[in-house]
Amino acid sequence: MNIVVLIKPTPDITKVKFDIEKGTVNRASTNLEINPFDLYAIEVAKRIKKLFGGTIVSISMAPPQAEVALRDALARGVDRAILLSDRRFAGADTLATSYTLASAIRKLGSFDIILCGEKSVDGDTAHVGPEVAELLRVPHASFVTQVSRFDKDRIVVESDYGDAYYEIELRLPALVALSRPLMFLGETVEPSIPKVGDVLRARRAKIEVWSADDLKDVADLNRLGILGSPTRVVKSYYALESGREAKVVRGIEGVSTVLQALKELGVL
Ligand SMILES: Cc1cc2nc3c(=O)[nH]c(=O)nc-3n(C[C@H](O)[C@H](O)[C@H](O)COP(=O)(O)OP(=O)(O)OC[C@H]3O[C@@H](n4cnc5c(N)ncnc54)[C@H](O)[C@@H]3O)c2cc1C
Repeated sequence: MNIVVLIKPTPDITKVKFDIEKGTVNRASTNLEINPFDLYAIEVAKRIKKLFGGTIVSISMAPPQAEVALRDALARGVDRAILLSDRRFAGADTLATSYTLASAIRKLGSFDIILCGEKSVDGDTAHVGPEVAELLRVPHASFVTQVSRFDKDRIVVESDYGDAYYEIELRLPALVALSRPLMFLGETVEPSIPKVGDVLRARRAKIEVWSADDLKDVADLNRLGILGSPTRVVKSYYALESGREAKVVRGIEGVSTVLQALKELGVL
């Protein structure tokens, strides 16, 4: 089974600093690590490989400092890590990102299943999985919380869309965007912690870096990066003020204070 995992290296959101003036994320302020949802994609890939054999290839489009995240992916069980890194990929919106990733998958040749996260913790659009699938013209399912059946030629999943659950059967090759919590064939999936030996092996492993030129046989270079991005960020701003006011009330007399406050708010 040829398994592709899409891994987005993202900043640690508990440590990353923001440039308030420019309204941008300062990506250099913290290491890039594997997007948390993509850790689940790696685990599912490992389980599929255990059942059917095959190879797990990870693909990431990111700046060169993402190498640390890719070594982590190798330590976690990915067989081959490809980093798409080139100035010509910069400024990509989700369409150009998806086009670049889909082109890299096309260059790999055949694949049976593409696994990715439901969304990234920094961009958070949940566009990339479905867009990659559409560009490759394969069926896809998003917000997948359960893989209930996996055969050589088809997969059955459950997708949680918030207001409804869907059971979806997809013929392979297909793309599945994984959510959490996640079940695979009746077992809970949790990201595993890599063993020391695997971490050391991954440190010495080769990361393949592909530039835009490496994609020229499979991609229209005008569809990469900012050139291929029909959308532009016009303005970024923060909406962190919640408008909540915290009040602490103690003791039995606190109960009447809370009741009074609820009456004033019209809740009671
Ligand atoms: C108008 C616009 C302009 C932008 N300009 C820039 C810019 O100048 N510089 C910049 O850094 N970003 C830019 N971005 C952000 C960039 O487009 C997104 O980071 C990228 O498209 C991924 O989208 P997302 O984070 O919402 O991923 P989602 O769709 O939320 O991610 C879903 C899954 O797709 C996979 N995935 C997503 N991105 C990647 C990736 N890069 N590599 C491998 N797998 C991936 C992962 O498995 C992930 O879990 C821009 C976005 C927009 C809309």
